[in-house]
Amino acid sequence: MTSNTRVVVIGAGLAGVRLARRLGELGVPALCVGEEEHRPYNRVLLAEVLAGRYSPEVIALPAPAGLVRARVTGIDRAARAVTCADGTRIGYGTLVLATGSNPVLPPLRGLFTPDRVLPEGVHAFRTMDDCLGLSKAVRPGVRAVVIGGGLLGVSAARALARRGAQVVLAQQSERLMERHLDPDASRLVREHLTGLGVEVHTECRVRDVRCVGGAVRSVEMADGYALDADLVVLACGVRPRAGLAKEAGLAVHKGVLVDDELRTSDPHIRAVGDCAQHDGTVYGLAAPALEQADVLAELLAAEAGGSGVLGQAGDASARYRGTRALTRLTLAGQDCLDLAAFGETVPRPGDDVVRLADSTRGTYRKVVVRDDRLVGGVLVGELGTVGALARAWEGAEPLPSDGGPLLHLLTNDGGS
Ligand SMILES: Cc1cc2nc3c(=O)[nH]c(=O)nc-3n(C[C@H](O)[C@H](O)[C@H](O)COP(=O)(O)OP(=O)(O)OC[C@H]3O[C@@H](n4cnc5c(N)ncnc54)[C@H](O)[C@@H]3O)c2cc1C
Repeated sequence: MTSNTRVVVIGAGLAGVRLARRLGELGVPALCVGEEEHRPYNRVLLAEVLAGRYSPEVIALPAPAGLVRARVTGIDRAARAVTCADGTRIGYGTLVLATGSNPVLPPLRGLFTPDRVLPEGVHAFRTMDDCLGLSKAVRPGVRAVVIGGGLLGVSAARALARRGAQVVLAQQSERLMERHLDPDASRLVREHLTGLGVEVHTECRVRDVRCVGGAVRSVEMADGYALDADLVVLACGVRPRAGLAKEAGLAVHKGVLVDDELRTSDPHIRAVGDCAQHDGTVYGLAAPALEQADVLAELLAAEAGGSGVLGQAGDASARYRGTRALTRLTLAGQDCLDLAAFGETVPRPGDDVVRLADSTRGTYRKVVVRDDRLVGGVLVGELGTVGALARAWEGAEPLPSDGGPLLHLLTNDGGS
């Protein structure tokens, strides 16, 4: 295949690898350029590696055929070529950005050493290298502070506690995972962490990172209170990695803007996964990234006129219309905590709410209904009904008006 028709994918994460493999199946070889040293892996399972439940090999993804290890540093749109850090140039017919996200580094005093690196003991939690670095540093009794109480911070705190660290979780807002959960479910997650020995501080803003000899020693709160720390984990959210696109002059808002065919403002460049912004939304979740990759594979295979090993040739009518993404978190192990949340979990005035709670078993189920439609729900500890509820939510069909089926949806464990 000449460089005029070649598909080049930047990024060998969940979306890039899925796309390259799917294209291979559809008879369109693609070159996937990824900067990470490790075999492609499932990022969603990094907390399980940190917790010591899985080895890195267990979370490896099947690598696509054309995988090159390099960091792309520039896009020459006029010449349709990308440049890599080692000086190589790679020509493309279609370029796909699957560059993922970067962790948000909060504006803390002392966060960077004079040569702009993180001090020893301070880690982001995004890559396998972050995970292995943390894993190496954690020992029973180590004092760890996790900054951020979203999905990432909760997973990291739990994993570190499981490895015997003394963990403090500092969350700026008033409750844990407030983007995904309602107050009751947040409270259950907090109780779960506390039960594992994690000290949870909410409405608590970290201001300062204190180091001695280039290594972290403590963190200081806005109210002046200082916590000793041998390890600090930054779990303050992510931002789409759109620098390459911006420098190349593509339209970028929060992420790289794409249409329903995952096309950027340059018709020869597409974008999928965490780096892409579709219809105003940057998802930052695995399911939309995979769905976008699947749609794009169909489109590119149809454009290439390929006839795949399975006799398929792509589907030119495939479109990405958005994902109604369900957030699911399993904190596995002995003290397992399963939770799932979708849509709007906090009702507006006038919404109907059905709630079932069992404080002995630590389970909680709630759904929010507006104008006979399921608009959101949250399940903690008891996920048997999640499949049926998610289907009712995704379908957005009106629910029968007598309320019976709703209760049935909440209690019928056979539906998933
Ligand atoms: C610890 C953790 C837990 C998570 N848990 C969940 C969860 O429970 N549920 C959920 O839905 N989502 C979860 N996520 C989010 C999920 O992992 C992402 O949404 C998903 O990985 C997005 O896939 P992606 O391919 O767009 O990006 P990524 O998987 O980040 O892959 C992007 C790849 O591109 C590479 N890259 C970037 N720029 C370049 C360049 N210039 N040259 C070469 N390579 C480059 C990066 O190094 C990276 O390997 C979690 C994330 C983390 C970090």
